[in-house]
Amino acid sequence: MALSGIQIYKMLPQTNCKECGYPTCLAFAMKLAAKQVELALCPYVSETAKAELSEAAAPPVRPITLSANGHQVQAGNEVVLFRHEKRFFSQPGLFVRVYDSERIEAIKEKVTAVAQYSADYVGIHLKMGGIALQADGGDFAAAVTAVREVCHLPLILIGDPAVLKAGLAKLDDGKLLLAHATAANWPEMAALAKEQKAALAIQAATLDEMVDLAQKVKGAGVDDIVLAPAQRNLHGTLTANTTVRRMALKKTFRDLGYPILNFAGDAADQEAEIILAAQAIAKYGSFIVLDHFSPAAVYPLLVLRENVYTDPQKPIQVLPGLYEINNPTPDSPLLVTTNFSITYFSVANEVESAGLPAWLLVCDAEGMSVLTAWAAGKFDAERIAKDIKLFNVADKVSEKKLVLPGYVAVLSGEVEEELPGWQIRVGPREAVDLPAFIKQAL
Ligand code: SF4
Repeated sequence: MALSGIQIYKMLPQTNCKECGYPTCLAFAMKLAAKQVELALCPYVSETAKAELSEAAAPPVRPITLSANGHQVQAGNEVVLFRHEKRFFSQPGLFVRVYDSERIEAIKEKVTAVAQYSADYVGIHLKMGGIALQADGGDFAAAVTAVREVCHLPLILIGDPAVLKAGLAKLDDGKLLLAHATAANWPEMAALAKEQKAALAIQAATLDEMVDLAQKVKGAGVDDIVLAPAQRNLHGTLTANTTVRRMALKKTFRDLGYPILNFAGDAADQEAEIILAAQAIAKYGSFIVLDHFSPAAVYPLLVLRENVYTDPQKPIQVLPGLYEINNPTPDSPLLVTTNFSITYFSVANEVESAGLPAWLLVCDAEGMSVLTAWAAGKFDAERIAKDIKLFNVADKVSEKKLVLPGYVAVLSGEVEEELPGWQIRVGPREAVDLPAFIKQAL
């Protein structure tokens, strides 16, 4: 039965020494109760308390972090089945697979493109998780060397134990994921994972076989297990992922309480691969392996991931402040909007791409869009006037002229009262109409 934060707190040392990374034992106890941290972070728990707490406090989905050279892909640690119940915590990493049977130059070219991929989505930096290298009858060790020459992202290595061993000799960085332990090879794979302190993916066709394999591998001393359902089509993947996660969260079934590895790249074609990857992002995939890489395909997947994994209670925001667009001068127009990211980027992008210099005052509206913030009382004349003063806007512009968003035209009189000496103009409702408005009316 799950223990409350207070029940857990009573079993902790209560010295508030902070070594666990939390300011008090109670704060740590609350995190344990929410299953968001591991008991091992506290070095002072008594053996008796440890025995009682470790089972109750362990996260239902074991947290596992793949890492290399300062790059990380975190998985697990989820506590809800549906995003709206709280939030999802560990964004799935997108990995691109190369085969050791490919030409070394082709491997390098593909891996370089993955490593260098970087995109921006409403101020959020998007990047790929890492590389999956699969043994396919080529020179695995040479392929590992080639990958590492051009890419420092985390790795998933896929092959038989003997082949993997040759590749591992070329690596000495971070935490890897090795794949796959099966009913046939699990003792060798478990020994290898244990020796390398790597995570180990286990693959089975049915959940009963998966549970059996997880117990054997764990018994052999491997704690960081990743489940790789053998199913590769849409229906099979969805069923396997959902059942695994449901058992872990609703039944606290430890033998399935692990992150999930999905191979979207095994789909029939690139279109099906993207759909499978999108499904895995939405439904419990932790490490998702693609075979194709193109910015046009991965950008929407990464944006989808952002949207699924952000906190639904907390809108994506930019920092309030006075932003400069296209090197404005004191004569450039002054626009105002809210700090909801999508609102900010809609306005800023329209003005910027039209090549128009402007000042953009972004008010703190708790991350809401213009109309929502106005309706909630978070974007009003008082707030605008306060931010005009807070960010010393009057020092930057030669004329005290302010353009309000058209949706809050109703505020113009009140803003004039709050800002004596300022001239208030009402701009268009939609950001797309701003360039024409600026050219004609200002
Ligand atoms: Fe309390 Fe242990 Fe954290 Fe110290 S390390 S504050 S004793 S929970």
